[in-house]
Amino acid sequence: MSDPLLEVRDLHVHFNTYEGRHEVLNGVDLTVEEGETVALVGETGCGKSVTGKTIMGTLPRPPGEVVSGEVRYRGTDLLADQSVHDRVQREQMSMIFQDPMTYLSPVFTIESMMRDVVKYHDRERVSWRELIGGFLGRDGKENEEIREQSVELLRRLQIPDPEGILDRYPVELSGGMRQRVLIAMALINQPEFLIADEPTTALDVTVQDQILKLLKERIDNQNLTMLYITHNLGVARQIADKIYVMYAGSIAESGPTETLFDAPLHPYTRGLLDSIPKLTGFDSEGIDGSIPNYTDPPSGCRFHPRCPAYIEGVCEQANPEQYSVGEGHETACYLYENEPNTSNAKVIAEAKISYERPKHLELGPDGGGDGRGD
Ligand code: SF4
Repeated sequence: MSDPLLEVRDLHVHFNTYEGRHEVLNGVDLTVEEGETVALVGETGCGKSVTGKTIMGTLPRPPGEVVSGEVRYRGTDLLADQSVHDRVQREQMSMIFQDPMTYLSPVFTIESMMRDVVKYHDRERVSWRELIGGFLGRDGKENEEIREQSVELLRRLQIPDPEGILDRYPVELSGGMRQRVLIAMALINQPEFLIADEPTTALDVTVQDQILKLLKERIDNQNLTMLYITHNLGVARQIADKIYVMYAGSIAESGPTETLFDAPLHPYTRGLLDSIPKLTGFDSEGIDGSIPNYTDPPSGCRFHPRCPAYIEGVCEQANPEQYSVGEGHETACYLYENEPNTSNAKVIAEAKISYERPKHLELGPDGGGDGRGD
């Protein structure tokens, strides 16, 4: 069997700041097969973007530090050799970043940035002669082709007046338009592997739907493989073949999309699903507390201070490993430690997880829990 396109193994990433050492990624494992769309979901601050940036090779180092682990792309560990990582990133990968204003230059027009992305794709270095030639417009014909290509892509991304947009600066565009420009830049060179970090968060639902359709079309027609990072479970369900649920720096549960929605097992996954606002009213149970402080994370299972199914004397002792609970379905929770593979995972979940609030989660006078997760 051939290697998966991407394999992340036991990835630990820390950040060294004046506040101390933030132990953010705590052994992330995930696999993306060629042509597959995988969603990485979880609350804000759980480590999704740090995972994406480490795979892409854009993690700021320092303060970030890859302590251990592997990021294998077609079998080659990218973390072992920076020059290989840089080459694979240039030639095969692309990323849609979350905050367009940070990633678009305020002093260049959209057209000039689109043109640079196309012209200098694959290139390790660009000579001064080429740069000056570009500024002086000596490559008119090529520029014209890139302009047409950009207009077409911007039109597909539902940007009104794409020709006019190309002459503008980022500051003249709305947040939603800037986000769509960033998506166009990430797609224009037809990457093999795309990391999309919350690409539709700034957009309204109708535009979001159109962009998801465009991404799906690319996946089907150009064999694009995608890691889609989101906190929106509805979007993940719409676009992904497989879902990884992340909590406080490690994977809590993973499985094929329909299995995960039909039979969520990990208490965190069930809490996340419970937190989705319903159109019929505010009746969600949700999850109490918040993501822990990474300078002093909880021992054992990092979810234990918030977990309604916490087993005293077990869960705080050691980090649970991934237990297989069905075909392609795994969960890191002691509730499933002794279960053999089963096709009836839903029954196990219902039998084992009580959603009554345990005592240690009752709210104190300051509105917080007992502080173990803070
Ligand atoms: Fe809850 Fe324990 Fe499972 Fe962690 S291992 S999710 S604390 S039951």
